Amino acid sequence: MAKRLARRPVRRALITGVAGQDGAYLARLLLRRGYEVWGTTRLPRGPAPWRLEALGIAGRVRLLPLDLADAGRIEALVDEVRPHEVYNLAGLSQVSRSFAEPVETGNVDALGVSRLLEAVRRRAPEARYYQASSSEMYGRAGEIPQRESTAFHPVSPYGVAKLYAHWITVTYRDAYGLHASSGILFNHESPLRGPEFVTRKITDGLARIRLGLAETLELGNLTARRDWGYAEDHVLGMWMMLQQERADDYVLATGRAHSVRDFVDLAAGALGFDLAWEGEGTAARALDRRSGRTVVQVSPRLYRPLDIDEVRGDPGKARRQLGWQAEVKFETLVEILAQADLRRLKQAA
Ligand code: GDP
Repeated sequence: MAKRLARRPVRRALITGVAGQDGAYLARLLLRRGYEVWGTTRLPRGPAPWRLEALGIAGRVRLLPLDLADAGRIEALVDEVRPHEVYNLAGLSQVSRSFAEPVETGNVDALGVSRLLEAVRRRAPEARYYQASSSEMYGRAGEIPQRESTAFHPVSPYGVAKLYAHWITVTYRDAYGLHASSGILFNHESPLRGPEFVTRKITDGLARIRLGLAETLELGNLTARRDWGYAEDHVLGMWMMLQQERADDYVLATGRAHSVRDFVDLAAGALGFDLAWEGEGTAARALDRRSGRTVVQVSPRLYRPLDIDEVRGDPGKARRQLGWQAEVKFETLVEILAQADLRRLKQAA
């Protein structure tokens, strides 16, 4: 007699902020692993979120409206989904915008997490919970690289709000025994990153110049160094955290930092420019030796009130305990972004 295959019960995942870069990649990863995926956005009506369209999963994610600033709906939503895993990726994600909207940032990125954790504690205490924490919590940290034990010293309303969210997650784990983990993610980029971040701004800007759609690219601080990884790698780490028997906190990073100028040089090379730099600081600019034109110009206006010189993480704990590591190298990451922007702009032309 044929052995009957035991059917594994379907696991349900709830992703808040599914329309963002990480939400879209995580939704695809979970769908591939057989999950039923529910995702929330603040604007559920209208066309499907473009990132879900781009990954070809728009019809497969069940979309629900949720504003983490609104306490009322969250418990009903958790009741409706009855999730086995909750990934909280919703929030305002831009450091510079958080200076312009500090109250909204605190309401969503900090208090919104209390609202969600409270709903999970009351309505789905067995669910596993992931909190999207950020390297911005380290700010002016006293050590490089930064690890889980490094003292936090945030320097933006965003970093401060994320720090509240991190500690309330730890508190719910310790006080109520929730399986709640916090992933302290360093910068992670992809073609789905918004152009307000410097990586996409550079590849989109240089690809436009390459195609004759723009003349120059204006940037701020070129000497800032960041630990840039690839978003799909980091999203896999989120899922791995929730598969552990014990919840914990982990840094996800590549362990290497590069400057904004390094990023510009590599992206320019990938797009066929041959850059020669002149001047320093706010007077720096880059000429393309082939055309003799200025393609990159520094603008003091784009400097931040407070910036962090170097952000670099130590992913040792994630490697040892999760078996996770960043697979995509910096050079490959820049190449992926540059080619994706060139392709997209050519198709749009
Ligand atoms: P963040 O590390 O999360 O703030 O990510 P960003 O991509 O926004 O910024 C990374 C670094 O690039 C920061 O140190 C910025 O000051 C620097 N930077 C330099 N020029 C620009 C620019 O034109 N736009 C942005 N977003 N950042 C810039």
